[in-house]
Amino acid sequence: MTTSSLDTIKAREESLLCRTYGRYPVSIASGKGSRVTDLDGKEYVDLLAGIAVTSLGHCNEEIAQVIEKQARKLIHVSNLFYQEEQLELAEELLSLSHFGKAFFCNSGAEANEAQIKLARRYMQRVKNVDAYEIITLDKAFHGRTYATMAATGQERFQDGFAPIPDGFKTVPWGDLNVLEAAITPKTAAVLVEIVQGEGGIRPMHAEYAKGIEALCREKGILFLVDEVQGGLFRTGKPWAFQHFDLKPDAISCAKALANGLPMGAMMTTDEVSKGFVAGSHATTFGGGALTSAVAAKVVRIMKRDHLDERAASLGGEFMESIRRISESHPGTIKEVRGLGLMIGIELAFPAKAVWEELIRRGFICNLSHEVVLRLLPALNIPEEDLRAFADTLEDILANIKK
Ligand SMILES: *Cc1c(COP(=O)(O)O)cnc(C)c1O
Repeated sequence: MTTSSLDTIKAREESLLCRTYGRYPVSIASGKGSRVTDLDGKEYVDLLAGIAVTSLGHCNEEIAQVIEKQARKLIHVSNLFYQEEQLELAEELLSLSHFGKAFFCNSGAEANEAQIKLARRYMQRVKNVDAYEIITLDKAFHGRTYATMAATGQERFQDGFAPIPDGFKTVPWGDLNVLEAAITPKTAAVLVEIVQGEGGIRPMHAEYAKGIEALCREKGILFLVDEVQGGLFRTGKPWAFQHFDLKPDAISCAKALANGLPMGAMMTTDEVSKGFVAGSHATTFGGGALTSAVAAKVVRIMKRDHLDERAASLGGEFMESIRRISESHPGTIKEVRGLGLMIGIELAFPAKAVWEELIRRGFICNLSHEVVLRLLPALNIPEEDLRAFADTLEDILANIKK
């Protein structure tokens, strides 16, 4: 698998970059649509899409045109100025749900920071209660900043970073009684992913999701949803919470928002937005003219091309095809789960060898929790590419020595 160009780039990186990443054995030189090409000219079908980021495919032509045009008009002036680009993006995004207000930032962690700060400030300054605690779920992933790392509540992300900020509590997934018992007068909000992404693609059941919302209403605390990975048409709806008729008080969004440019957003209701006043929260880059113009185009394309419906039907058919493989090859696949084009294939044994063989045969996906192949392809991926992945996976599983 090693090539001389890969070895060279590995050695260069070793001497230049902080060692924060375990890299895949591939160095990507270029991308187009759902294909990427490595330094040696080998082409791969990309079923990861930059971890649910390039939902419209790599180097999308319409997006490239917006980038070029906006780069010659206005890129950045700071949030000291009014910028129409932000408003056009806000109109596009807010038209997708019940939310009334948006705040723009640069990443998923920042979008979650914004909703955590908003929840605390709304409770403390609007409702005048001394509540600050945020309850999150086991195996959640909310980001790598101090607050979102605390919200993530997993030892492997917190190791060596003590003291972890307090005011966060993690409860087991799937148990409404435990959640109810965890809520105290100090609780400000519950923050959840409707489909856990990093946690190995775990979709909530309707009753559980509705139960969490009902508990929040009953206790007078806020219901926050992290839509960073599942949001923006990927699960078959504009937002994953819409599968269950929920009305969260706020959501975070990022990854796919600007198809690869750094961009995040927090959306909330008119009522809860009162938690912020001028000066409460800010960012230098957030909502810059370039990223906003690109994100507005992303949302327009997703709406125009009905990519939610496409994700739902394509993802559904694909998961069925993997379930058929599972039946033909008993003992290989333990479970196929997901929503739309957010898909986890859990193998019945450690999946590293299968994942590596997929890369060798030109298919890129993520390996999570050692047993789950996580697929987050572009929402406009050609059907043939998904079929080719399924055929290749079947061939590998049929020949695997377990
Ligand atoms: C990726 C992710 C984040 C963090 O986003 P960054 O842009 O890396 O800060 C937060 N929540 C979820 C659900 C994610 O998938």
